[in-house]
Amino acid sequence: CGIVGYIGSRNVKDVVVGGLAKLEYRGYDSSGIAVLDDGNIKVVKSVGRLANLEDKLTSAPVDGNAAIGHTRWATHGKPSDENAHPHQDCSGRFAIVHNGIVENYLSLREELTAAGHQFRSETDTEVVAHLIEELYNGDLFQTMIAVGKRIRGAYALVVLAKDHPDEIIVLRKASPIIIGLGENENFVASDIPAILEYTRDIYVMEDGEMAVLTKAGVECFTMEGEPVQKEVYKVTWDA
Ligand code: GLU
Repeated sequence: CGIVGYIGSRNVKDVVVGGLAKLEYRGYDSSGIAVLDDGNIKVVKSVGRLANLEDKLTSAPVDGNAAIGHTRWATHGKPSDENAHPHQDCSGRFAIVHNGIVENYLSLREELTAAGHQFRSETDTEVVAHLIEELYNGDLFQTMIAVGKRIRGAYALVVLAKDHPDEIIVLRKASPIIIGLGENENFVASDIPAILEYTRDIYVMEDGEMAVLTKAGVECFTMEGEPVQKEVYKVTWDA
């Protein structure tokens, strides 16, 4: 439902949870955050209001240079802590948030279970985390191109990886997602109001595009990996 991601030097929890709060009007049943903290991915999630997530984050604070967060509107699997995003692979090296539906999740789940993957949730989304782990060959960008070829349906997908602490990867197919351009920091969100307090320079991602965010910049590509030159959209309105 709602997605916010951030790479930069601000307090990542404030940017991500604060951004998700700005998307609350969309409705949601649970929320969560993954933070790259000291070389490891830490995930905190909770069913119910964002305030529940904030409570957990007060007793188990997270900090780092990159984070992704999600407010979920369940389509596959009941609202619960386990079904909330971010979802992870078995090794915990990857964390993903997803808006939309992975239509072929059942066959992927069977295939990945047969290959030894253990699932923790009832969501369609979790197959993507295991698929990344299964296809990962050290090159996250190429791996995500391969993942994009295997999953069908609608998705805005944002990926954090332990071995690639300096980047966040975004894929878009039939589910809106935008990039916010900052100075030595960059943002991704499912809607502009989430990040408007930080930047008014936006890339609106189109269907079939992917993006790689680092602190220093943002590069956009087709899902085949061909570079795409995007125009900056300047937001002139206030949320
Ligand atoms: N289909 C996913 C789920 O049920 C994502 C739902 C959403 O867009 O929030 O977990």
